[in-house]
Amino acid sequence: MEPKLSIKEYYEGLNNNRLLGLKCKACSTITTPPRLACRQCGSLENEITQLSGKGSILTFTSIHVGVENRRGKTPYLVVMIKLDEGPWIMGNLEGVDPSTATLDLIDKRVVMNNPHCDKIPAEGIAPVFIPKSTPT
Ligand SMILES: [Zn+2]
Repeated sequence: MEPKLSIKEYYEGLNNNRLLGLKCKACSTITTPPRLACRQCGSLENEITQLSGKGSILTFTSIHVGVENRRGKTPYLVVMIKLDEGPWIMGNLEGVDPSTATLDLIDKRVVMNNPHCDKIPAEGIAPVFIPKSTPT
């Protein structure tokens, strides 16, 4: 059985700055990145939904030795975001200098701002977040 939202569709969404997830028809929990079953109740009854891309920083780390496709682009910040719709998601944080990043980043509001990637397939790209200037 295939998830309603395939990984390919998920990455195509990211590449167009759209964060997609699955909304459970049984308990309304939103799951992203997509999985076959609801992360809360395990139901297989779900529908594709678009998330706001807004959330708060739970934690972060600064990467100084990058993976192969990030060589020469270090340091950079990897963040864990609690999305407004509930799920936690890992991504990159831009717009903040990694050398000056402090614990003040915790709880800061962010919004997804994925640059379009022409490399096909775009699989493997991570959601990119930037600080949100106005609190909501
Ligand atoms: Zn559920």
